[in-house]
Amino acid sequence: MNLIELVQGDITEQHVDVVVNAANSSLLGGGGVDGAIHRKGGPAILEACRKLRAGHYGRGLKTGQAVATTAGKLPARWVVHTVGPVWSATEDRSGLLADCYRNSMLAAAELGACSIAFPAISTGIYRWPVESAAKIALTTLAEEVPGITSVRLVLFDKKTYDVFSENAQDKK
Ligand code: ADP
Repeated sequence: MNLIELVQGDITEQHVDVVVNAANSSLLGGGGVDGAIHRKGGPAILEACRKLRAGHYGRGLKTGQAVATTAGKLPARWVVHTVGPVWSATEDRSGLLADCYRNSMLAAAELGACSIAFPAISTGIYRWPVESAAKIALTTLAEEVPGITSVRLVLFDKKTYDVFSENAQDKK
């Protein structure tokens, strides 16, 4: 089982091999984490995303999938973009949220990365309740992926950090 580190902070400032972007399917930028990554990482990331759209990802990235680009000027080496599901009160999309975490770790391992940092995918603009998102993230990130030795969850605000911490304690 992976040891998962929880920190309160900004995903764009993480000194890890891979930072994960809570992207949208267009891959062409948005608000929240996506906006921050593109702003601080500079134009190289958007350029790489445009190339993906011109090639294999002509229709964009599907929910739950993950794809890597350069991290531009960020301290990380790569950005892995994944598209979280929008919260639905009537449809269980938990499997798709778990896919985001799992497929991002697999994409990172494929690059030869050892360390990876995640934001709380889907809990912002996509409105996923934080407690449920924490349970899914912590359960999925506990799955071993060969080559990945360090997993960090970077929670932006104290409230989100506290909910993740409480759920991590419950698992012990
Ligand atoms: P989504 O569209 O998947 O909901 P968002 O980017 O809107 O993605 O939000 C996901 C989570 O990331 C939210 O909890 C939000 O508060 C948080 N967040 C926003 N900016 C940052 C940042 N720079 N670093 C880490 N987390 C962030």
